[in-house]
Amino acid sequence: MKISKDTAVTLHYSVTEANGKPLASRETTDYLHGGYGNTLPRIEAALEGQEAGFRVTLELQPEDAFGRREAALERSIAKKDFPPGVKVGGQLRGMTEDGREQIFTVMKIKGDQVLLDANHPWADKALKFTLQVGAVRAATAEEIQHGHVHGGHGHHH
Ligand SMILES: [Zn+2]
Repeated sequence: MKISKDTAVTLHYSVTEANGKPLASRETTDYLHGGYGNTLPRIEAALEGQEAGFRVTLELQPEDAFGRREAALERSIAKKDFPPGVKVGGQLRGMTEDGREQIFTVMKIKGDQVLLDANHPWADKALKFTLQVGAVRAATAEEIQHGHVHGGHGHHH
C-alpha cells in the first residue's frame, strides 16, 4: 500500500545533528499521514506515494525542522515559587508571558532564580533524518477523527 492521505505509517528513524551527533537512534513511531501535524511537513512530503521498505535521508534546516529558538519561551522564576526538589533537566507545566500553556525544562539554577526554557530541545538545529517505512495501512475512521494513530507505537487512551 502506498502512503497517501489517511494512511497509518509505521516509521523507523534516526536523527543526528548536521555534525553527526546522534539525537535519536533507531526509534519507531506510528503516525497518521496527511497534514495532521503528527510529523514534519518535509517528512510527509518525502514519504508521500512511497511503500513499506522505502528509505530516505533528509537534511533539514531549522526552519524546516523545529524552528528557531524564541526568547519569549525562556523564563526566569524565583526558586521559592517552586516545589522543593526542582532539578536541572526536570520538566514542569507553566504559562508563557502571552498565556500559552507550555512544558518548560529547568535549564539552570542561578542563585535564587530558576531559568526555564520551553523551546523545543531541537530548535535552532539543522537535522539529518534517516527514515525507513516499516508498514502502511489504511487508518480507521476513529483514528482520522482523532488525528492520530492508535495502538502499536501510536496513542494509547
Ligand atoms: Zn485517539
